[in-house]
Amino acid sequence: MGVGAETMAELKSICRQRKRRQDHKANLKISKNRHDLYADELERLIFGRKPESAADIIPEGEIVLTINVYYPATPERFSSTRPHMSLLMTGSHTLAEFKDAICCVSDLQVCGEFSNTPDVAPDFISKSSFFFFEGVFYNDMRFPECQDISKTTIEWAKARNFPPYTQAKMEDTRFMDLTIKVGFPYLYCHQGDCEHLVIITDIRLTHQSDCLDKKLYPLLIRKDRLLTQKCAVCHVFIGRWFTTHDQFAPSDPCLFCDKCFRMLHYDAEGNKLGEFLAYPYVDQGAFN
Ligand SMILES: [Zn+2]
Ligand SMILES: [Zn+2]
Repeated sequence: MGVGAETMAELKSICRQRKRRQDHKANLKISKNRHDLYADELERLIFGRKPESAADIIPEGEIVLTINVYYPATPERFSSTRPHMSLLMTGSHTLAEFKDAICCVSDLQVCGEFSNTPDVAPDFISKSSFFFFEGVFYNDMRFPECQDISKTTIEWAKARNFPPYTQAKMEDTRFMDLTIKVGFPYLYCHQGDCEHLVIITDIRLTHQSDCLDKKLYPLLIRKDRLLTQKCAVCHVFIGRWFTTHDQFAPSDPCLFCDKCFRMLHYDAEGNKLGEFLAYPYVDQGAFN
């Protein structure tokens, strides 16, 4: 080729450097998982979205609130300080609609021992809950079984000369009726003692680049993900049962997916085999 040995050596050195730079750049690229890709796609779809029917358009002058809901305050199970989810709500939404948009594993968790009746799903999960904004408890009283769980706190405070707290119904209260502070930590309490911080991070007027389709609100704009705990047998499916005093289990307690749990602990007719105690388990990543 008529290229001198010195020029060849220099060319090789430049090529090596370029290859190193390309490899470094390739490593810097952060690969997105399916959750991130889905979130990106969702963001693209809602940008400036208009409804098909004119009746569903968000009227001009409506306010939009950005609300962060945090993980429950149980340090042994949730140590994350990041918000669990961020939602967009309009000023016309009621607090009950906000409550229905909040996902928490406590709403699914059934407590008790069910090794003799694994197919019976008891339905005694409490529907009572409240929000606490600026000295007012907003209770959910939509269903006959709902109780006023703020009463005990109000009476306790009254007996100790605290400033008086008042009550209202969350289904009758819209965000536009509230007097609230942006960035201030408020409380959402459900299932007796599952307490979440709720922080309103922004209140503004709607813009033409917002999603203007009423039907898509409350709009989930960000959701945190947690590691899921897998079944100790197949290591594939998420745990649904944990057992104790279990002669078949490699550890005590031991976590099983529904399929492995039933295959190992019951015969073909569904009769219990051996001695063990079984408790339903809801994984903290159930809403991933
Ligand atoms: Zn909760
Ligand atoms: Zn399994």
